[in-house]
Amino acid sequence: MKVYKNISSLIKKVREVKKQGYKIGLVPTMGFLHEGHASLIRKAGKDTDCVIVSIFVNPAQFGPKEDFKKYPRNFKKDSALCKKEGVDIIFAPEAKEMYPGGYATYVNVEKITDTLCGASRPGHFRGVSTVVAKLFNITMPDIAYFGQKDAQQAIVIKRMAGDLNMGVKIKVMPIVREKDGLAMSSRNVYLSRIERSRSQSIYRSLKSAKELFNNGERAAGKIINKMKQIIDKQPGIRIDYINAVDASDLKNVKKISNKALISIAVWVGKTRLIDNIMLN
Ligand code: AMP
Repeated sequence: MKVYKNISSLIKKVREVKKQGYKIGLVPTMGFLHEGHASLIRKAGKDTDCVIVSIFVNPAQFGPKEDFKKYPRNFKKDSALCKKEGVDIIFAPEAKEMYPGGYATYVNVEKITDTLCGASRPGHFRGVSTVVAKLFNITMPDIAYFGQKDAQQAIVIKRMAGDLNMGVKIKVMPIVREKDGLAMSSRNVYLSRIERSRSQSIYRSLKSAKELFNNGERAAGKIINKMKQIIDKQPGIRIDYINAVDASDLKNVKKISNKALISIAVWVGKTRLIDNIMLN
């Protein structure tokens, strides 16, 4: 396993790998890796010959009042996990390598970034699509792996890769959860014990949505209300949004007909957590 911090030396390496006819799999991450990330890495290892994991806390996707500075980082642990999972290359650039002085180019995916997390975090997806476009240009992957945990992100990246003919296949992998159902996230480390326990209500609310749907309920409003009740019972948790959207265009749906995504974002104290479930 080799670690690259420099863009031009990685591009040189990637060209050699491609010349040999090897398939490249890219797993973009912000580090502080857990089982969710590992599941993407393992899938990349099965599908491709050369797995590149990028570890980069991307300043461009954080708002001025967000947690960029305190976002958890542990490169030693991350590189041990990557080594154990058979990663070939880690790309871990400094911010100034990715955004040198004079940097001025951004990728903006329209419409589908106006809702859900895009509405709560202005500029977030502009930062995400820009950094992912750069990572695609640098690592030239055949397949790139994303988690369903960040459902809107995966949809935005698919749209960008298609619209800009990037020639990379996007694979989206299922949400990996803790034993009690909480979706794994690097941000879970921010939670106090009591907050961690209250956070179980997020998945409980999603499960109740699924249960209502399985019992024949199709009115999005009723499903969302039930979820709100479950969350609101918990002190210290504030709902940012709960939406039922069409999984293709992320527009709100009133009646759940085919592929609906129930998406939730909450504040647990100062920590913002997201989760979702597909109803179909
Ligand atoms: P992050 O480091 O949080 O930016 O995540 C990097 C990638 O891992 C993204 O594609 C996430 O959607 C994915 N990911 C994060 N948490 C999970 C999880 N619990 N299950 C599956 N994928 C995840």
